[in-house]
Amino acid sequence: MLRRVADGVLIHESEFCQSNAVVVHGRAGVLLIDPGVLGHEMACLANDLSESGQTVAAGFSTHPHWDHLLWPAGLGAAPRYGTARCADTVRDRLSDAGAKARIAEQLIPPDIAGQVPLDLLGLITGLPAETARIPWDGPQIRILEHQAHAPGHAALLIEERGVLVAGDMLSDVLIPMLDLNGTADPIGDYLAALRLLEGVAGEVDVLVPGHGSTGGADQVRARIDQDRAYVHALRDAHAPSDPRVGPSATYGKDWLPGVHARQLEGLAQRSERGGTPG
Ligand SMILES: [Zn+2]
Repeated sequence: MLRRVADGVLIHESEFCQSNAVVVHGRAGVLLIDPGVLGHEMACLANDLSESGQTVAAGFSTHPHWDHLLWPAGLGAAPRYGTARCADTVRDRLSDAGAKARIAEQLIPPDIAGQVPLDLLGLITGLPAETARIPWDGPQIRILEHQAHAPGHAALLIEERGVLVAGDMLSDVLIPMLDLNGTADPIGDYLAALRLLEGVAGEVDVLVPGHGSTGGADQVRARIDQDRAYVHALRDAHAPSDPRVGPSATYGKDWLPGVHARQLEGLAQRSERGGTPG
């Protein structure tokens, strides 16, 4: 079911990892950002759109991770975009014949693997690096590319609606997950990305994270502060006092502490190697 978060902006929440698909109304169809995860949910989304007389004019993937690169055939053959770096990364990762099978086996949780349609996974066109806005006939959407969670990660600012679609940044349920392999300075890059988002915070009324709950203007700054505190704790190898991995956590109790431990370990190994990228 679609839920309105601002004028002409709706979201569709998945049962998987509280993922949010975002629909933006344009003049000749909608833009669909990170369409969703489970086949039946995306079919429901396609159905909701066609019942309301909407066609899909374009798609956008915020970053090159499988749960943001799906597209069921029922949504039609609109152009699908990502940043150039995102598209290059997807092309590399899907370049061999066994790639999809590997993703299904190693990355998608076994309980949902059969429900994730991989046929059209990652068929995105990279927008040239200097592209400032999504090329489409609808409200102006600024691309805020940064290097943090994944190569070519982009947050989108729907300027006229005051909506920030944050991709996998600024979640209230997931801790910051750093890109430990794709960059020379994962901590520095993450902090720079938070500064970039902080720079537009004054223009945001509604925050939509890739996973978790939407928030208002106050949540943008609160989550930036919370994420920065977590990244500082990682950098300094302190135990973070972060509710998302603490005893009161309401989400991911069985796996987020493991993610946190692996990030600490990964960073320690990097510094032993003298901080060079692996
Ligand atoms: Zn994600």
